[in-house]
Amino acid sequence: MISRVIKETKIKELKRLLEQSTNIVITCHVSPDGDAIGSSLAMYHVLSAIGKNVKIVTPDMLPKNLVFLPGAKDIIPFSKYTDYGKQLFSKADLLFCLDFNAPYRVDKMADTLISSKAKKVLIDHHLDPEDFADVVISHPEMSSTCLLVFRVLCRLEFFNIIDKNAAECIYTGMMTDTGNFTYNSEDPDIYIIIAELLKKGINKDNLYTRVCNTNSESRLRLNGYAISEKMQLFPEHQAALITLSQEELRQYGYEKGDTESLVNIPLSLPNITYSVFMRDDVEYIKVSTRSKGDFAVNRICETYFNGGGHQNAAGGEYRGTLEDAVNIFKSMLVDNDKYLKK
Ligand code: 5GP
Ligand code: MN
Repeated sequence: MISRVIKETKIKELKRLLEQSTNIVITCHVSPDGDAIGSSLAMYHVLSAIGKNVKIVTPDMLPKNLVFLPGAKDIIPFSKYTDYGKQLFSKADLLFCLDFNAPYRVDKMADTLISSKAKKVLIDHHLDPEDFADVVISHPEMSSTCLLVFRVLCRLEFFNIIDKNAAECIYTGMMTDTGNFTYNSEDPDIYIIIAELLKKGINKDNLYTRVCNTNSESRLRLNGYAISEKMQLFPEHQAALITLSQEELRQYGYEKGDTESLVNIPLSLPNITYSVFMRDDVEYIKVSTRSKGDFAVNRICETYFNGGGHQNAAGGEYRGTLEDAVNIFKSMLVDNDKYLKK
């Protein structure tokens, strides 16, 4: 038996909203990752199976490594099908907001989401959710939204409706948000749930290979270049920085998702406590940060890079030049020393 974490009142309210709804839209954060897509698809499979008319509308395209997930081809990216997306939001009577805590995390879709008359259900594990949903199931102590979605589905008495497809999607998010169970992964319930998903027929080794361990030549070369030529270490501050300019990205034929786990690599050095990766995405500088232990990178992203996230994994979008972002990073190094464990 897994522990009971979600309040009964929330489950009751959610049940009531589900009973009253026909057209459901599921959405997640911009630049969706395995947890955002996995939780959306798991919910999609189960709610479709109970006869609801369900659509997933994501703010933008999903990364290539997730396209194989069952149901992924039915996802509607708002950036590509804006009018259709708007129509779905206006027709919906229930809206699931998964794996994000504030409307700005759906980027250009934020106005459409806010103005939708549909009842909104937030299921998420980021800190400090903003007040925009009717039912808020927010558990920052959970390592992934997928883990939370599994719990929600069980509490709604849908455990038997979770089929192999839904199970694969749930496992994917649990795996990607914990670095294949190498961080935020001490909760014993995680492994009880994995056992249940295995009984549903998932092949976890195969999912790992397809999601995390499949490279293209250009991706491999880009990451090799970034580590060998672009990684700067600041051992006196226990920090690492990697930057990639537009020119460098072009040179290596960068495609979305190609730098997915790059920011983690410097953390494998025992003397590095936090790692920052900056990529020039033209519209803004995408900042990704990771840390070990008590060092809170979400604070850095909130303070300097217009973002947020979790203690050990956070990100932001900096509006300025790559050079400016690097200068900010360098000037904050000394400040951050006070948070380091010596
Ligand atoms: P990544 O570095 O993989 O893009 O993001 C890691 C985590 O940081 C995400 O799971 C998300 O919680 C958070 N994050 C990334 N980008 C942003 C952002 O622009 N704003 C906020 N608030 N959080 C972000
Ligand atoms: Mn997540």
